[in-house]
Amino acid sequence: MEKVILIRYSEIHLKGKNRGYFERVFGINLEKSLKGIKHEIRRRSGRYLVECFDEDQTDTILQKLNKVFGIHSMSVALKVATDLDEIFAAAKEVCSQGGSFKVETHRADKTFKLNSMEISAEIGGRLLQWNSKLKVDVHAPQFVIGIDVREDGTTLVFNEFFKGAGGMPVGTAGKGLLLISGGIDSPVAGHMIAKRGMNIECLHFHSYPYTNLQARDKVIELAKVLSQYSCGTKLHIISATHIQEEIHKKCNGDYMVTLLRRFMMRIAERLALNVGAQCIITGESLGQVASQTIEGITSSNSVIKSLPVLRPLCGFDKDEIIERSRAMGAFEISILPYEDCCTVFLPKHPVIKPTLEEVQKEEEKLDIEALISEALKSRETLTL
Ligand code: ATP
Ligand code: MG
Repeated sequence: MEKVILIRYSEIHLKGKNRGYFERVFGINLEKSLKGIKHEIRRRSGRYLVECFDEDQTDTILQKLNKVFGIHSMSVALKVATDLDEIFAAAKEVCSQGGSFKVETHRADKTFKLNSMEISAEIGGRLLQWNSKLKVDVHAPQFVIGIDVREDGTTLVFNEFFKGAGGMPVGTAGKGLLLISGGIDSPVAGHMIAKRGMNIECLHFHSYPYTNLQARDKVIELAKVLSQYSCGTKLHIISATHIQEEIHKKCNGDYMVTLLRRFMMRIAERLALNVGAQCIITGESLGQVASQTIEGITSSNSVIKSLPVLRPLCGFDKDEIIERSRAMGAFEISILPYEDCCTVFLPKHPVIKPTLEEVQKEEEKLDIEALISEALKSRETLTL
């Protein structure tokens, strides 16, 4: 009896003609997630099987697979030959020592002498005879024993379903550029869009020496967390120092955040086009802070010329975002205290409802093009 992991995929089966493509990308992502761990992955009629791994690696493998988008559910199963005695032996192994249960059979091998109902009845009957503390309850059982009769003469027997990460395989929905700060929100925004199948590259602005190197390391750590879900990522790091100094020197200080945001968006769009990203992603949430009023968002959005800006968190409360941040494993890093560049030169009374006219008047005091090119030249790229 060999231990294997059965993987069921989620929405991929909805994709009609594209199914082959989706499955291929999904298979590659599964392989990537288990890189460095001994295993073999096989595709079998609408399922994937992880086989030939060391049993003591089971939990590690499940944890890795838990971060692969496209997985609907997983089960650790015993693989036996398609033979009633062998199936019963495996069912005894996975069966609890008492309580109510039902057997559910899925039969891909239509040549086997019993149909799925008959297999369930046969194995259920044998289990009842074997252990008097068991009873059948088909409506509200305490546990379910699953039997999957495969076409290749083998059968999988299991009793647990682990919910997978859901979503679509990363790489099937293009590429986006995530504006990542050291905060709670932006990694969650990246996670949500990766979940829909998008490859993510990250862009971070720092204000060294006003922000320290720990702030930079923190962002690298956050991008690494995200990369576990997005099958790797690149982190582009760009200096906003001179831009902030120029704004501080020449403009009305209350516009610092508004003006900086517009610079970030302009630079993000240029970089996105340069790296082949098809959209910009931010962690903005409507009304959360002064710069995220609809007027603030309008102001930063209006410098974007050709790409859509995705703001997946716009309708979320902070608690909902925190819950997601914890679930993805980013929260403990996000709450480390190092400063973000947006907190440098922070005005006491930032404008809450900037008008385009006022903003443009402030921008006339700056050489926007020169500042953008200079910033782009400072780019450093890490592959994570
Ligand atoms: P976060 O928790 O992501 O920092 P926030 O609630 O602190 O978000 P802001 O600081 O107003 O909100 O930032 C809004 C969005 O702007 C962020 O979610 C992120 O997408 C982008 N952003 C902010 N600071 C930076 C930065 N230093 N580098 C890159 N993007 C940034
Ligand atoms: Mg922030």
